[in-house]
Amino acid sequence: MEQPYYKRVLLKLSGEALGGEQGYGIDPLTITTIANEIKEVVDCGTQLALVIGGGNIFRGLAASSRGMDRASADYMGMLATMINSLAMQDALEKAGVYTRVQSAIAMQEVAEPYIRRRAIRHLEKGRVVIFGAGTGNPYFTTDTAASLRAMEIGAEVILKGTKVDGVYSADPKKDPAAQRYENLTYLEVLKKGLQVMDATATSLCMDNNLPIIVFDITVSGNVKRVVFGENIGTIVKGE
Ligand code: UDP
Repeated sequence: MEQPYYKRVLLKLSGEALGGEQGYGIDPLTITTIANEIKEVVDCGTQLALVIGGGNIFRGLAASSRGMDRASADYMGMLATMINSLAMQDALEKAGVYTRVQSAIAMQEVAEPYIRRRAIRHLEKGRVVIFGAGTGNPYFTTDTAASLRAMEIGAEVILKGTKVDGVYSADPKKDPAAQRYENLTYLEVLKKGLQVMDATATSLCMDNNLPIIVFDITVSGNVKRVVFGENIGTIVKGE
């Protein structure tokens, strides 16, 4: 049997990825499809950790621009990521994948607390670990949480599943001349202000040489393709 290219990966999904066509809430068909894609790679022996955003339910920044206290709004955002994490846990278990949710905010009746060594142990046992509640701190995003956790667990790469097949020079929906990049450096992403991850997350990856692959999660089989090293999407790495 062919071997996966990556042995340990962190998959980052935006909250919107769970919303399907409508982009908000949780679409049962979409979440089941993603769960089955994850099962495929876990069955091939790749260790997979997940960070899911909360944008399909609540975004701190958006609420604070409408007058809410930013820190309070961000805590609500982090709780939204827990809702998504529990939904994904359910979908994965229905697909026959063993999972654990670890939360950066203590909620012991609902999820384990985040404990790095324990998370690694779960991965070694073939369980998918879902890291909920972001970093546990306001003023951060789940992209930063993904970078931080990826580093902590020694993931080889962050796989950022989006609704487009990579990073473009402009919004491909608005500008027909927009070009897709195959490779980018962290500095190019930062200098050109490209929509890969926010600057905090990107510089964290840059400082620690952690590659990011942006790919289209809505295409069936893509999670497996990317884990097996197929050149789909855009890879961001050092010089
Ligand atoms: N959030 C936070 N700290 C974190 C991660 C997330 O305060 O470490 C909050 C923040 O308000 C954010 C919301 O949770 O807007 C949802 O996360 P994010 O916007 O990253 O979700 P995505 O865009 O990936 O769906």
